[in-house]
Amino acid sequence: MRPYVVVNVAMSADGKLSTRERRQVRISGKQDFTRVDRLKAGCDAVMVGIGTVLADDPSLTVKGEDCRQHRIDQGFPEHPARIIVDSHARIPPNASVLNKGSGCRILAVSEVADPVKVAALKPYATVICTGKEEVDLAALMDELGARGIRRLMLEGGGELIAGMMKAGLVDEIYTFIGNMIIAGRNAPTLADGEGFIVEAEFPRLSLIEMRRIEQGVLLHWKVEQPDQL
Ligand code: NAP
Repeated sequence: MRPYVVVNVAMSADGKLSTRERRQVRISGKQDFTRVDRLKAGCDAVMVGIGTVLADDPSLTVKGEDCRQHRIDQGFPEHPARIIVDSHARIPPNASVLNKGSGCRILAVSEVADPVKVAALKPYATVICTGKEEVDLAALMDELGARGIRRLMLEGGGELIAGMMKAGLVDEIYTFIGNMIIAGRNAPTLADGEGFIVEAEFPRLSLIEMRRIEQGVLLHWKVEQPDQL
């Protein structure tokens, strides 16, 4: 059974995740940061695309001491497993996600990944290979499910979220909308990729909750699966 997938992103009021140069922007405040940390701490794994790793160099660790201790008290590892979707094994071995904090890392590559690079990354992460040119996301989710990952937080970016949406692999979406305009037609959004052509393909959402947090608003959506429409 594939994991239950929860997307979480922060976007500007015009729907951008970062600048046109893919430079990270502080969109939310302390209160939302705590919400996201708790959401992460409640998951078995957190996943990002290689674009996010190369742009932001995140560690994807749980930051709150209380959240980490709670996980340990419940018998879980201190941090959720960290998964990077990286067809060509482009991740540098000194990336923070591979080096900061304890716990399991999974590198998802495809058949085109250079075997020398993959071999060099094996001391840092468990490697899962699916797909010919790019990672086969459905096969990856099945493999993660088989390894006991039940709940997965997808932190971005826009290309990977679009791929996961298109494959019907997303169950819930949290979007924090902050009080700024970033602008730029090339700035990443919640779901980029090629886009859908016909309306019938658009994933449909139902609103679970909307809440003001500091100077922004949090929207919590459930993604309708085709058999629920
Ligand atoms: P991304 O979504 O993190 O990574 C995209 C890459 O994943 C693709 O280019 C592709 O590279 C790889 N990939 C492998 N298989 C894939 C598949 N089946 N479908 C889709 N992608 C696949 O990169 P991004 O869209 O450039 O987003 C990065 C930007 O988003 C950064 O600027 C970051 O700051 C921002 N961001 C913002 C937030 C927020 O909450 N505001 C959160 C996360 C990221 P390969 O072909 O080489 O594998």
